[in-house]
Amino acid sequence: MAAEKIDTLVVGGGQAGIAMSEHLSRNGIPHLVLERQRIAERWRSERWDSLVANGPAWHDRFPGLEFGDVDKSVGPDDFPGKETVADYLVAYAKKIAAPIRTNVEVLKAERIPGRTGFRVETSAGVIEANNIVAATGAFQRPIIPKMLPADAPVAQMHSTGYRNPAQLREGAVLIVGAGSSGTQIAEELLESGRRVYLSVGPHDRPPRAYRGRDYCWWLGVLGKWDAAAREAGKEHVTIAVSGAHGGHTIDFRRLAANGMILVGRTEAYDKGALRFAPDLVDNIRRGDENLMSVLDEADAFVTRNGLDLPEDPAAREKVPDAACIREPILSLDLAKAGITTIIWATGFAFDYGWLKVDTFDDKGKPRHQRGVSTEPGVYFLGLPWQSRRGSSFIWGVWHDARFLADQIQIQRAYMAYDAAARSREQR
Ligand SMILES: Cc1cc2nc3c(=O)[nH]c(=O)nc-3n(C[C@H](O)[C@H](O)[C@H](O)COP(=O)(O)OP(=O)(O)OC[C@H]3O[C@@H](n4cnc5c(N)ncnc54)[C@H](O)[C@@H]3O)c2cc1C
Repeated sequence: MAAEKIDTLVVGGGQAGIAMSEHLSRNGIPHLVLERQRIAERWRSERWDSLVANGPAWHDRFPGLEFGDVDKSVGPDDFPGKETVADYLVAYAKKIAAPIRTNVEVLKAERIPGRTGFRVETSAGVIEANNIVAATGAFQRPIIPKMLPADAPVAQMHSTGYRNPAQLREGAVLIVGAGSSGTQIAEELLESGRRVYLSVGPHDRPPRAYRGRDYCWWLGVLGKWDAAAREAGKEHVTIAVSGAHGGHTIDFRRLAANGMILVGRTEAYDKGALRFAPDLVDNIRRGDENLMSVLDEADAFVTRNGLDLPEDPAAREKVPDAACIREPILSLDLAKAGITTIIWATGFAFDYGWLKVDTFDDKGKPRHQRGVSTEPGVYFLGLPWQSRRGSSFIWGVWHDARFLADQIQIQRAYMAYDAAARSREQR
């Protein structure tokens, strides 16, 4: 059977794939989006039950549709639940008539020798495409550090496997990683009455709100979402924010005062005990500095622009240090501490095993500039910091998709010129 042909094949039907489809359509580029499960599957089935968006509805969305248009109960300052986010993306795909085929997995894509284009094997047959946009997201393969042996006396799971407190064995829980996922899961477990240990590494922790404006607004007006590159030495700092219970600032000192036991970065395991780096105090201090720097910049912005926003001294209040911060635990016998579960909220790795082209470095990271790869015809979308800080967020990916659609259009124009020139030359 002859292979189906399409100009541009988009792999992945999450927010990135949908945004890409919108801009390809605007540029009149024939395309197809393949999604191996359902649209926005990760929001539906690969996150915990109580997850809500980390950004408010007015902000974390595509320009062309409000959350309230999809679910009237969601106000602009609400944090939509994960099912609502998925419903929103489904509604958006419908609104733009995105040509998405669900339940079709891309198994392998490779260059066709001797001519432009790619041969793509899918679970539903072969497709030939001139361009491929890999929109499979930044959160592909959960990372669990190889630290504990298989026979260690605890259950282990990645944050993608966590659903709710009732799912876990009786006993205390250690959560490793204090980004947004780890911190939100730790808070939920503490509220459910569990004894909770949280391993805190370097992090940023912006204020949820300051002087009556959400941090998403502040990072926007201060130009921080648009920061084009990470500052040297600050490469992998995770961000601790929460939209849970209407949104609140993550304050590790307050969590410790409420009974959460904080430890430093988890370093090693030996004979039933975990060892932690002596960096807890430093990590918390640097998180505080990050918070204060945002508050200072916000104040300066208010003054410079003469804005009428109320003073907010409570945002600078410091909760006294609990015992776990005054005398950090450096080693913990899991059995003695009653820890029966470890949840690794330690992030994700890329997995482009299906994409058989030479555009990856030795760590499997795509080589690209703003998503345009070093392999002609291959594009990436949804990468963290693809073009700027906002790139992996719903609204940020939309702008990166526009850029890529323009690049694809430019390349198509060159190829169209070549075809026309050759036909003129043959006459
Ligand atoms: C816990 C958490 C909370 C977040 N909260 C927010 C938030 O509040 N606001 C915000 O803006 N961002 C948030 N993000 C970031 C981001 O918006 C989401 O992670 C989002 O899911 C990324 O969208 P994506 O389209 O890039 O990737 P994904 O949603 O991962 O979509 C990729 C799709 O590709 C499909 N796929 C993968 N491989 C193949 C294949 N070989 N063939 C076919 N299909 C394939 C997958 O099934 C998936 O549906 C959050 C992230 C996490 C982890």
